[in-house]
Amino acid sequence: MIKTSWVGGANAPEADFPLNNLPYGVFSRAGEGLRCGVAIGDFVADLAVLETAGLLEVSGFTAPVLNGFMARGKAAWAAARARLAELFAQAGDPVLRDNAALREAVLIPRSDVTMHMPFAVAGYTDFYAGRHHAENVGTMFRGAENALPPNWLSIPIGYNGRASTVVVSGTEIRRPLGQIKPPDAELPVFSPTKRLDIELEFGAVLGQGTEMGAPLTVAEADELIFGYVLLNDWSARDIQAWEYQPLGPFQAKVFATSISPWVVTREALEPFRVAAPKRARPLLPYLREPGPMLYDVQLEVHMRAAGQEQDTVISRTNTRELYYSAAQQLAHHAIGGCKMSVGDLLGSGTISGPEKDSRGSLLEITWGGKEPLTLSGGVERRFIEDGDTLTLTGFAQGDGYRIGFGNCVGTISPAPALRPEWIE
Ligand code: MN
Repeated sequence: MIKTSWVGGANAPEADFPLNNLPYGVFSRAGEGLRCGVAIGDFVADLAVLETAGLLEVSGFTAPVLNGFMARGKAAWAAARARLAELFAQAGDPVLRDNAALREAVLIPRSDVTMHMPFAVAGYTDFYAGRHHAENVGTMFRGAENALPPNWLSIPIGYNGRASTVVVSGTEIRRPLGQIKPPDAELPVFSPTKRLDIELEFGAVLGQGTEMGAPLTVAEADELIFGYVLLNDWSARDIQAWEYQPLGPFQAKVFATSISPWVVTREALEPFRVAAPKRARPLLPYLREPGPMLYDVQLEVHMRAAGQEQDTVISRTNTRELYYSAAQQLAHHAIGGCKMSVGDLLGSGTISGPEKDSRGSLLEITWGGKEPLTLSGGVERRFIEDGDTLTLTGFAQGDGYRIGFGNCVGTISPAPALRPEWIE
């Protein structure tokens, strides 16, 4: 059931941010510094103002990132959430609702703010936990008989990405340069990527870390996760195809990863847990789930061609399509002794469903560029062109309310000019 609030826009059945949600982010108003906020209805509640006014028992919100608050741990997360719910509930504590001056200072229309990176990314690891995606890509890169690598059904496969280029929704993404080997050529050329792509993913944000050499159970791993964001793992497929063996993606992925600006808490998603798909092969005991560890979050990818007004929905899928949960990925990550940190980000891997219109990358939707898409305006696309805009959206559907994630948007700008000494 929806928890009703006195804040404008919070009770609409299709609103992203009802009282049930309360996701955390970092925002600024023109000419002002960055502070932590929580989204409620059509507003951002300024948590720094609430903290300074003595209305929150939990501190850490005056910082320009959520890391300090996250590091306080599970009891502090629960206390802050309970207190915020009390302050914004229709029939809650009236101390904010009935104080016009304070209300004015705390609640800022979301249309008046700029969103920033919600947390400082300590490390970024990207996984490959979508079975349909792994099978589709494997079929294209290695043939149908080798589609799924032999370890895939046993290991949540991942690689270490770059924290330095994780950016918030709205950040312009520059087309990368790199080595590409055209299929009919013997040797590679240096060029802007011609096969720029997205990967629709779910990102887990760690609010607690581990010590080096200290492994975890899956249940313990789950407790370290503060919340989730939508994540677009931008990918250059031609660079990837040439470089990825034997160590996996490198330059094909390091140029940018976009995330949605609101971290939706694990607590808000609790009613939406679902069981993992049937295991094709028994998992080793250290990876077994103690209960349902996936979530039922509906996802969409929108694409707008350069110069066009309208988005086209190019994919609809769901996080329940994943084979491994973030908790399993995290347990696997730490089991060998890797230290995990507050602010670590784990990408799920591309989330594709079984149908063509539920695939989470253009590589799969256009099957390597062989089956072009027609977008609004009659524009045809195989991969992403300069000026195109890609938007990921998602929400969990409750009884009369939604837990929304907001948008994860990126527009592509042209590659850097090629210098003569690079190509002659
Ligand atoms: Mn990825």
